[in-house]
Amino acid sequence: MDRRVHCSLAAILLCVAAVSVPAPAGAQRLLHTSAGTKVEGAHASIWSERGVPKGRAAAVGGEIDRLFTHIGHDLEDAPPRLRVRLFASHLAFARALWSLQDAHPQSSTDNTSSVGHGMLLLGPLPAAYLRHNLAHVYTEWIIDRLTGNHTDALPSIPWLYDGLAEYEAYRYEPAGMHCTLKGPSPFGITKVLTARQWMVLRAGPLGSLEYCLAYAQARALVNRLGWSRIEWALHRGWAWPVLVRHLLVRSGTR
Ligand SMILES: [Zn+2]
Repeated sequence: MDRRVHCSLAAILLCVAAVSVPAPAGAQRLLHTSAGTKVEGAHASIWSERGVPKGRAAAVGGEIDRLFTHIGHDLEDAPPRLRVRLFASHLAFARALWSLQDAHPQSSTDNTSSVGHGMLLLGPLPAAYLRHNLAHVYTEWIIDRLTGNHTDALPSIPWLYDGLAEYEAYRYEPAGMHCTLKGPSPFGITKVLTARQWMVLRAGPLGSLEYCLAYAQARALVNRLGWSRIEWALHRGWAWPVLVRHLLVRSGTR
């Protein structure tokens, strides 16, 4: 869920040869290939390697079509087709992540890349995490598009970037996820201003609680400002740091 540096090897394609083309099923077109399955949804092209559970590619395609409608509406954007590659094992995911995005998984259970050059890599995530993480990275992808972040790197003030991604993920895919904080926050997440600090925290004892803290802060900010202000700021053509400064000043946070 965190952004990673992308490398020029993104052009390497996991090419497969189509051997049969069954009739279209609903809005999705299914291609069986020698090395896997390809599903063409309305807003995504999903390739899955052999061994990925049957129906998963179609489920991911359906989910992305749903996110295009909901998150695209919230952020007033119509992103292009997303290319997705599904892997049957963590090892296969990790290998692809290294060759295509020049990065390692954050842990043995990390099976989600960010969207780099219009491509998302996914390993064997449990269904609930899969949908939540899809919503998270889809939101980040749109924020990057609107703020002109072409670097494929996690931007500064990462707590608000990941916090807004979690805000949308909880809005549309809360099932199986829990983030309820009672009492004072155990850590001042808004003090984390750089991607490096964010990654260090992620690897430490705070772990994935970091995302919950970021979500709580982003939700408080949205409640103070109203979602329309977030949407308005995203469409000013501002780079991310300028946009964040505006939101924090406007909300009286800074
Ligand atoms: Zn993220």
